[in-house]
Amino acid sequence: MKQNKIFFTAIFLSLSLLFISCSTVPITGRKQLSLVPSSQILAMSFQQYDEFLNESKVDNSSSQAQLVKRVGQRIQKGVEQYFAEHGLSEELNGYQWEFNLVESPEVNAWCMPGGKVVVYSGILPVTQDENGLAVVMGHEIAHAIAEHGNERMSQGLLTQLGGMALQEAIKNEPQTTQQIYMTAFGLGAQIGVLLPFSRTHESEADRLGLIFMSIAGYDPNGAVTFWQRMAAQKQGGSPPEFLSTHPSDETRIRKIRENLPEAMGYYKK
Ligand SMILES: [Zn+2]
Repeated sequence: MKQNKIFFTAIFLSLSLLFISCSTVPITGRKQLSLVPSSQILAMSFQQYDEFLNESKVDNSSSQAQLVKRVGQRIQKGVEQYFAEHGLSEELNGYQWEFNLVESPEVNAWCMPGGKVVVYSGILPVTQDENGLAVVMGHEIAHAIAEHGNERMSQGLLTQLGGMALQEAIKNEPQTTQQIYMTAFGLGAQIGVLLPFSRTHESEADRLGLIFMSIAGYDPNGAVTFWQRMAAQKQGGSPPEFLSTHPSDETRIRKIRENLPEAMGYYKK
């Protein structure tokens, strides 16, 4: 009898948490699971980001490093403008934007929750110019804005902790929560190497990224040529991680073309 009661209480708690713990992705309107309080995820993100920078060769002075910061700040302003116009500014509370260029041959870039961006110098030959860099940074920032990390972490929590009261777990089992964060961001084995996002997340980041770069005054048509250059690079040698983790180039470029009219609406404004 007592067992039953505990069982049903656990189910009830889980269900009510599920019920109250959904959020909506801006622009696409997709409903997503969101179980981790943003204050918590931001704290973990900022700690991981600092740790990553400490262990990396950060370029703070070159003209390319300045360019990364400039493009990042312009897209940040674009995001803030979009959120302000839609009465969503509160959702950016706690953000501590940062844009760093790291010396590494890896063809990659990422953005952790709260606006913590890293661009690897290895991707600069493919981005070629400021507009190309805006394609990459817009895409990565969109992953963070759409809270794909929180969603993936929430799915991990749900799988690993099952019927437990999740908020309790987050409070009382910092070790487990930390570990799930690490797993959700692929930080377990090698710091700063993020797991591939799902196809849904990739398409969403492409669409949002185009809009944010357009508001920032960058031409979204550059996304097509950027991804064509990435595809060419892939044929030339071993696929860089940034590529191998994404949907097929053909599908991606086709979808980007479909999304261009929407993005151009923001560009012309
Ligand atoms: Zn992506």
